Amino acid sequence: MSARIIDGKTISAGLRGNVADAVHRLRRDRGIVPGIAVLLVGDNPASEVYVRNKSKAVAESGMHAFDRNLPSTASEVELLDLIAMLNAEKEVNGILVQLPLPKQIGAQKIIAAIDPAKDVDGFHPLNVGRLASGLPALVPCTPLGCVRLAKTVHESLVGLEAVVIGRSNIVGKPVAQLLLAENATVTIAHSKTNDLQSVCRRADLLIAAMGRPEMVRGDWIKPGATVIDVGINRVPGEGGKTRIVGDVAYAEAAKIAGAITPVPGGVGPMTIACLLLNTVRAACAQNGLPEPKI
Ligand code: NAP
Repeated sequence: MSARIIDGKTISAGLRGNVADAVHRLRRDRGIVPGIAVLLVGDNPASEVYVRNKSKAVAESGMHAFDRNLPSTASEVELLDLIAMLNAEKEVNGILVQLPLPKQIGAQKIIAAIDPAKDVDGFHPLNVGRLASGLPALVPCTPLGCVRLAKTVHESLVGLEAVVIGRSNIVGKPVAQLLLAENATVTIAHSKTNDLQSVCRRADLLIAAMGRPEMVRGDWIKPGATVIDVGINRVPGEGGKTRIVGDVAYAEAAKIAGAITPVPGGVGPMTIACLLLNTVRAACAQNGLPEPKI
């Protein structure tokens, strides 16, 4: 058996197209152009790549970008002042602070300073609490992308045995909350889980988000299961170069799973598409409009 490949590139392109259509309608019918501010502090090379990709996608969607780069020496107060200004700016519907931040700046304090209505990363405690309470919320982009990918395989996730490996605030916990909201039966595994292999083998839907290159082996997977690989790990490649692998040993897993996301080209592109989606949703909510059906 060979698994169906869940093509995140194509699926995210479709989502981005739908977002661009919604942006076009907002501009034409309401004179509203959604806007997002992506804030980068310092010169972390990985963060610079992420921010560049996000900015490109924002421009392609027809939204306005209000991006700001601060030097690595920027103080917490400087960043808080900038966020206060963007919170008050009507044309800015979404604010994203690229993490990690330099050590002189407290990430939690910064996240808490963002207006929850503009928190398109879904990390503000108010949005975290609303998601956990089953209330409408801005939801973190990567988890949102994972669930959307799973739903390209399963029309409904009701009653599925879902196992999430990883319990971070960015991926593991919110993806588990979303799966619970879909009425899946959810297990969250982590580094202290006993017999992880057996836990994984129960899963109809396995979400791997632990940042451990190719840790999930083929024989950890229930035959026919859907596997969503969130991991992005740089490992030594040929000729002194590096290559990117996921948290799942793809070649082995693809022989056993029913469907699987590749790395790269799976969850990664969905994350950016979901950021655009969150920004349009935020813009609609801030303007008293119903949530667009995207
Ligand atoms: P993280 O904050 O480091 O959390 C990792 C989680 O995995 C922790 O809960 C940890 O358990 C668990 N874990 C670590 N080693 C484990 C092991 N041997 N067995 C079982 N569980 C283990 O990482 P993250 O931010 O959630 O990111 C996870 C991965 O997703 C990374 O590779 C990251 O690069 C990738 N990622 C991708 C995207 C995307 O857009 N595709 C977005 C975000 C993250 P404990 O809590 O017990 O320590």
